[in-house]
Amino acid sequence: ASSAPISLVTGANRGIGRETVRQLAELGHTVLLCARDPQAAKNAAADLTRGSRLRGTVLPRALDVTDAAGVHELARSVDAEFGRLDVLVNNAAINYDTGRRAVSVDLDEVRRTMETNLYGAWQVAQAFIPLLRRSDHPRIVNVSSEGGSLASMGGGTPSYSLTKAALNALTRTLAGELRSDGVLVNAVCPGWVATDMGGGGGAPVSTGAASVLWAVTIPDSGPTGGFFRHGRPLAW
Ligand code: NDP
Repeated sequence: ASSAPISLVTGANRGIGRETVRQLAELGHTVLLCARDPQAAKNAAADLTRGSRLRGTVLPRALDVTDAAGVHELARSVDAEFGRLDVLVNNAAINYDTGRRAVSVDLDEVRRTMETNLYGAWQVAQAFIPLLRRSDHPRIVNVSSEGGSLASMGGGTPSYSLTKAALNALTRTLAGELRSDGVLVNAVCPGWVATDMGGGGGAPVSTGAASVLWAVTIPDSGPTGGFFRHGRPLAW
């Protein structure tokens, strides 16, 4: 069995996911860089490894988080290849719907957003939990957003905010169910980050991914069922 930690990041061909892969590989992890477009996964993995001295290994994998069959197929192949998973980062998300209002948004758009941002993360977690249970230091990190905080919610981005509030609820539910297995499950907000989703501004991806890495690298005695940005608790 591989002694390097095995990590999997969804939606990792660009943005915070891609940088999270790079930072995990710098720590020496074997990282499965997942993207819904197989060629995009290969290109991103090649970009990250070209001319760099990453301590770990980056392996491209095809994964559309909304494709139940594909999710289970990948879990089977990771099981066959590694026999376990140590770190799952549910990063893939869509539709920061700034122009929308809850009073008028098309509910089909809300449902579509839920399919990726909530049910996608949920079905990936379900498929990989048996492999995470075989890890000595299992972690699930759900990349959420303060936009999903009920404490700061007050209108706008209705699809996005509701999916992230639900992802936060899922985080607590899974954390409770997996506590006795030693799986630490936390939600993190990366802050406003300069990616396609972030729009024109925001912090560099390195800062956003560092918020994710914090939740990966907490000790076994660390928190579970929490919501953090850069290691500091956020209000639900
Ligand atoms: P990007 O829009 O830059 O990247 C999103 C990634 O998710 C892409 O790789 C995209 O793939 C992938 N993706 C979308 N749908 C699927 C799917 N069905 N299956 C697999 N992958 C999919 O976003 P960011 O990097 O900015 O965001 C990453 C995370 O951080 C998200 O969860 C986001 O909500 C969160 N976040 C971001 C903030 C910001 O300011 N940027 C602020 C707060 C939270 P493809 O290229 O194929 O579309």
